Amino acid sequence: MKLIVLTAPSGAGKTTIARRVMEVVDELRFSTSATTRPRREGEKHGIDYFFLSNEEFTSKIDADAFVEYEEVYPGLFYGTLKEELERHAGNKAVLLDIDVLGALNVKRLYGERTLTLFVRPPSMEVLEERLIERGSDSPENIAIRLKKAAFELSHAEDFDEIIVNDDLEQAVSETIAHIRTFLIG
Ligand code: 5GP
Repeated sequence: MKLIVLTAPSGAGKTTIARRVMEVVDELRFSTSATTRPRREGEKHGIDYFFLSNEEFTSKIDADAFVEYEEVYPGLFYGTLKEELERHAGNKAVLLDIDVLGALNVKRLYGERTLTLFVRPPSMEVLEERLIERGSDSPENIAIRLKKAAFELSHAEDFDEIIVNDDLEQAVSETIAHIRTFLIG
């Protein structure tokens, strides 16, 4: 099984791109992560995330149940479960939507079997505008996300491919093209 890792700063369009990729590339399965963050309206346990309490997450860390995990935002943990990757093991490839450090860890662990894709906004200014327009984050949250985005952008060069999300349709096609090339090889 190959691993495709998609990473992007919050607001860079990653969720939309991931959804479109999953619709188009038949051989791909989605890796559902575990998290301690509260469930948002409409999200389903086992589909969007495995929503765990802090205690449950900690006991999984102790049991060595994670391939990787990170404290992505202060006090909020996210991780890829070994069990989840094993569940998809019979498939051609799995898509992971995880943060920069998680992505680089997966690459380190799985090497050539992994394709890391970084979706970046055209600029920090555009990212800020998009976060404001989205209207789902408070000014404090936007500031936290922008700070994290600056850190994430500084790691873009460590990824196999960088996709600039200037035009969404084009970014989707580019992402699909990279994945198809990698799956053929
Ligand atoms: P959100 O709370 O908006 O769903 O996700 C926040 C961030 O956590 C996103 O950047 C997402 O890529 C990252 N994330 C989700 N699942 C995982 C995971 O299993 N491991 C790591 N390292 N990051 C994750």
